[in-house]
Amino acid sequence: MLDYDVIVTGGGPIGCSAARDIAAQGYQVLILEEHQKIGEPVQCSGLISERALKISRVSNKVVLNKLKGAVVHTPNKNILNLKGDRVYGVVVDRGAFDRDLAAQAAGAGAKICHGKRVVSFDYLTDGLKINTTSGDGSNCSFTCKLLIGADGFNSVAARLLDLPPAQEKVTLFAAEVSLPGFGGHLAHIFLDHLLAPGWFGWLMPVRENFARAGIGRSPLMNRDWRESPRLLFEKLIAKYPIFKGLEVLKTTGGIVPIGYLERTYDTRVLLAGDAAAQVKPISGGGLYLGLKGASFCAATAIEALQKNDFSRAFLRTYQDAWDEDFGLEIRCGLKHREIFLDMDNGEIEFLIGFLNKPYWRKIILKYGDLDYHSRLAAKLSLAPPWANRFLENGLKVLLRGLAQAAECRY
Ligand SMILES: Cc1cc2nc3c(=O)[nH]c(=O)nc-3n(C[C@H](O)[C@H](O)[C@H](O)COP(=O)(O)OP(=O)(O)OC[C@H]3O[C@@H](n4cnc5c(N)ncnc54)[C@H](O)[C@@H]3O)c2cc1C
Repeated sequence: MLDYDVIVTGGGPIGCSAARDIAAQGYQVLILEEHQKIGEPVQCSGLISERALKISRVSNKVVLNKLKGAVVHTPNKNILNLKGDRVYGVVVDRGAFDRDLAAQAAGAGAKICHGKRVVSFDYLTDGLKINTTSGDGSNCSFTCKLLIGADGFNSVAARLLDLPPAQEKVTLFAAEVSLPGFGGHLAHIFLDHLLAPGWFGWLMPVRENFARAGIGRSPLMNRDWRESPRLLFEKLIAKYPIFKGLEVLKTTGGIVPIGYLERTYDTRVLLAGDAAAQVKPISGGGLYLGLKGASFCAATAIEALQKNDFSRAFLRTYQDAWDEDFGLEIRCGLKHREIFLDMDNGEIEFLIGFLNKPYWRKIILKYGDLDYHSRLAAKLSLAPPWANRFLENGLKVLLRGLAQAAECRY
């Protein structure tokens, strides 16, 4: 007799969301979380769409601010003002967001075990044995029919099964800051490949005089790795006058996995959220796609339990389901990201200058969507600087393919 039907590693938003849906069907679910408290430490800036908040079923009380547009800052300190008249995103209290989802999971009947880090698992004839360790050095194991790996970008399950990891892991540094005189409802984005190689800096108002800020760097950019993201953050605040008077109150950071994972399942195992790189490649936001992933993951898990079929062949239906829903969005985001990585600061300056016209600002405000960047990206692909890059990249891919084919023949 196995202890649980399903064990979820990771009590983050995605693990709790999947656990809630499975427990709600009457199955025995255990969440194993390595930290003592859900929602701590916070490693997020908490910007999500109202759509994402709705599917999370988290109370509106976690909303701290509503954002109605953005200001894009170029390497030469020019700006593109994109102030709209609708809500594009909400800034949430991420700790409270996670705690609400954990309460939903517990309310549906899932058990949450804190302070237990999953270190390995073994296949049994009729299930899995999940091995954990605690801070005091004690070890214990639990058995189950199915394991859901929702343990973030460095997922134990993914590593043990040798599932292909995300191609790119972006390192972020973020902070909660006080900033006298700053407030309102516009996010600020800073594009500069020298300061934020392959990524961007950000400043988001939370309330008057209080904001979240951060910066990221991509390993795909050929830069000096001695420049830590923290150092890049200091350079960012020194460069742009908007940061004048900033005081860092609390720092955080982390890794965002970017890529399309071809396989997020194995015999008796499913991956969801950051563990499955269900992350928007252009912004690194993982909550919306992760929550959607969790819902597909729970649906497949429930079907597997009903059919008592935990084979790799059956669990593949999970990959098919999420891929059909948002796989193309990720792949499209990756294509646009490739072009962004290939641009230098001069081209970024030129592109933003080009878009700084009433027509293009209107297009951006109309099609901008925090969750579906590809909708706007497709429109911007018609803007000559971007369109030229698209053709250039397409040609490069074609030439690379022809060269590889020629190599294979000779
Ligand atoms: C600085 C920063 C800012 C971000 N800002 C945003 C944003 O504004 N909007 C947005 O949508 N996304 C943002 N993201 C991304 C977002 O935080 C993630 O996509 C999201 O948290 C993914 O949820 P998850 O449940 O998959 O993973 P996590 O939230 O990482 O949760 C995984 C959980 O698993 C636990 N765990 C890990 N290993 C083990 C183990 N071996 N055993 C037991 N438990 C384990 C961890 O303690 C954690 O609780 C940001 C990320 C960073 C780093």
